[in-house]
Amino acid sequence: MNLILFGPPAAGKGTQAKRLVETRGMVQLSTGDMLREAIASGSQLGLECQAIMSRGDLVSDEIVIALIEARLKEAEDAGGAIFDGFPRTIAQAEALDAMLSKLGKKIDRVVRLRVDDVALLERVSKRYAEQGRPDDNPDSFKVRLEAYNRNTAPLLPYYGDKDLLTEVDGMGSIEAVAADIDAALDS
Ligand code: ADP
Repeated sequence: MNLILFGPPAAGKGTQAKRLVETRGMVQLSTGDMLREAIASGSQLGLECQAIMSRGDLVSDEIVIALIEARLKEAEDAGGAIFDGFPRTIAQAEALDAMLSKLGKKIDRVVRLRVDDVALLERVSKRYAEQGRPDDNPDSFKVRLEAYNRNTAPLLPYYGDKDLLTEVDGMGSIEAVAADIDAALDS
């Protein structure tokens, strides 16, 4: 089973992905986490991405596709992946389809978490105050939302046309959203 958790920045994708790892034994593939690890390790890749990420812009397709490719086989062998924060562009989605198809696999479901912009801003300003993630500052968050609307939202018709899309209300409690995702996956 391969699942994409889809939604705007700070919609709760990471939280829900981590829960699915625990309950279903799937493997979380989060390009955001991988990039933050690269920055923390001080690698060349981290150095290249740090400024782009803290302003809220997207890292190049080439970089994130390579990060996913390096982890995909292992995830498929373990029973499937939860893609969290990837794909974020049509080019990434096409590359993912091609990589999966080489392994005889495909995307089985795309769950879209719907959260309105006012709630996103509230969540992210709270997280910024608590955790100080550089790209959660109000200016960067605005850039992230713009990148989502411009580059990532076009994936909705891409997956809708393939009949893979399920919409889940992401405004409820973590438990309520989790229950809706479970229902979507088990139906
Ligand atoms: P969120 O889900 O809150 O937006 P992520 O942790 O997924 O945050 O991503 C943080 C940042 O990492 C993005 O704003 C972007 O700069 C970079 N990034 C993560 N995934 C991708 C991707 N698939 N394509 C391009 N950039 C990415």
